[in-house]
Amino acid sequence: MGAPGAGKGTQATALAERYGVPAISTGDIFRFNIKNQTPLGVKVKEIIDAGQYVPDDVTEEIVADRLAEPDCEPGFLLDGFPRTMHQVYFLDRYLADRGQQLDAVVSLHVDPEVLVERLLNRAELEGRADDNPDTIRRRMEVYAGQTAPLLFHYESKGLLVDLEGTGTVDEVRERMFEQLDQHIAQR
Ligand code: AMP
Repeated sequence: MGAPGAGKGTQATALAERYGVPAISTGDIFRFNIKNQTPLGVKVKEIIDAGQYVPDDVTEEIVADRLAEPDCEPGFLLDGFPRTMHQVYFLDRYLADRGQQLDAVVSLHVDPEVLVERLLNRAELEGRADDNPDTIRRRMEVYAGQTAPLLFHYESKGLLVDLEGTGTVDEVRERMFEQLDQHIAQR
């Protein structure tokens, strides 16, 4: 978990590689569908371009379908899901039904000014439609209002690995591996 620009996608890829599990990014799945103009892509394009969240039922169905794929059996990493309390309860139920559970929830903390700088930089490099100043502001607000409160939930369950996300990609990755190892050793 982390605000837009915190480095979720980059660090999720490193983490998934380390554990040999698939990294599942709901944002990537949506962007793939938008690019290919699928019915899902057509449905979510405007919402995502406006910096809003895709409705829970749509997002949850996508995650359920993806987690049912055989490559997720040994484990998986979710990047950008859950983002609402509804999605948290959905995931809890989904995993409980299958006798599975989360090992850890990694949260990346980055100073808001650094976040905006990173996102504007990414806009130049990747050309994402939702990386423009107005939408960035909206996405930050939506994160603070709807997603940041989830951290309390996962903290109370003893799952939270709270991480300082400032620094180079390599520094953050090493910090994350170290804190995660400690977390897992303590469980
Ligand atoms: P991301 O690549 O994770 O920043 O996601 C890009 C955009 O996709 C977000 O700003 C949302 O509009 C949408 N999105 C991704 N994941 C979710 C989710 N779990 N719930 C609702 N909307 C999502």
